[in-house]
Amino acid sequence: MTGAQLAHETGRRLHAAEERGLNATLHWSQDLLDREGTRTDMLPTAPLHGMAIALKDNIVTSDMPTTCASKILEDYVSPYEATVVTRLRAAGAMIACKANLDEFAMGSSTENSAYGRVQHPLFPERVPGGSSGGSAALVGAGVVPAALGSETGGSVRQPAAFCGVVGVKPTYGRVSRFGLVAFGSSLDCISVFGRTVTDASRVLSVIAGHDPLDVTTIDRAPLAALEQRADLRGVVIGLPREYFPADLDAGVRDACDRTIATLRALGAEVRDVTLPHTQYAVATYYIVNPAEAAANLARFDGVRYGPRHVGPVGDVRALYQATRGHGFGPEVRRRILVGTYVLSAGYADQYYHRGQAVRRCICNDFDQVFASGVDLLFTPTTPTPAFKAGEKTADPVQMYLADVFVAPASLAGVPAMSLPIGRDAGLPIGGQLIAPRFAEAAMLAAAGVMESAIAPEAEVRS
Ligand code: GLN
Repeated sequence: MTGAQLAHETGRRLHAAEERGLNATLHWSQDLLDREGTRTDMLPTAPLHGMAIALKDNIVTSDMPTTCASKILEDYVSPYEATVVTRLRAAGAMIACKANLDEFAMGSSTENSAYGRVQHPLFPERVPGGSSGGSAALVGAGVVPAALGSETGGSVRQPAAFCGVVGVKPTYGRVSRFGLVAFGSSLDCISVFGRTVTDASRVLSVIAGHDPLDVTTIDRAPLAALEQRADLRGVVIGLPREYFPADLDAGVRDACDRTIATLRALGAEVRDVTLPHTQYAVATYYIVNPAEAAANLARFDGVRYGPRHVGPVGDVRALYQATRGHGFGPEVRRRILVGTYVLSAGYADQYYHRGQAVRRCICNDFDQVFASGVDLLFTPTTPTPAFKAGEKTADPVQMYLADVFVAPASLAGVPAMSLPIGRDAGLPIGGQLIAPRFAEAAMLAAAGVMESAIAPEAEVRS
């Protein structure tokens, strides 16, 4: 396909998605696509030549706005672009659009966008997951083969599971955060959606690697191309018992049981293991994350970014209050309040410092299980398939519990991914693989074998 054809085809699909009300995009234009097409024609041998990629709208671009789905950044255009965007462009990819998200990536359903909720690609009354729901829905609907999202606590794996696509969170520090609008700096990882394991790993190998502009990136050998394995002989896969509770959704359980049988049939050694601090992960995450969010979001004050609202009094405090009061939605305000509280002088020991100590215990759980000879962990990605829009919006704790199986790997900084493992009444179900730090290659290779052995469209309960 020439660049012009790809630009035309991508524009047609984006338009069709808009027409059906998916609401997955925040910015795109045919003009920009055409320009991208001309540019990609000049890179015919580049590794991602001809691949259209959507970007979550918290990754900055200099030719389109970056709003984080917030009113506080309405029409904001960054003066520079994120390292991942520069790398994708140099690799011949076409940047297709900016995708809708939960405001500032806070949420698990993409209902917290200031620009309206995103629909699930197959069931419009349901949510695509979040916070990278726009990116996931675009891949799930076949608009683009791959997309970037961001993970702070599961925001790529969880929507990947809901939308029936592959979602890969790398090791913390593997991919540059330069140009990702900061949310929880010790947790944030730019992460990848793909239609297939191969597509996701191609994109990941292009964006991964040391970046002098992000001191937390780690200087490691580049990620090699996806290793093609025929089976899983010699691979030890742990099943952490905390991830298979008695009240797990029946469809999710059946899909996991079938997948575990497949893992065995492929020659893997499957073992029961324990990660005893798992039960504290959601509580810990929802202390550490708001603390970091409150600190990071202090910069949105009406002086440096986005629209400015002047308060009635006319002093600088009134300016901050008016701008932030108008600009931030309810979930963002909740995080700032909770974060400020857990960091406050009287409560920091009780909440923030204790949260950090428990985070260390959660990391140790993973280190110990991987040191015991386990290569990978297999778990469900989510406790249920995609839920209905509005089902959890009234109760933030219910929404937070949607992250119960994805939060631990984020706190520990280990790589993890979701891949489709079956359907229940048509609703996609995701299985999660978790690997030791920097073992993305082994994780993706195992996922590749599983992908060819599993029929993800198959109904798990008859
Ligand atoms: N659902 C989680 C939250 O709301 C995850 C967010 C994320 O990973 N960006 O914080």
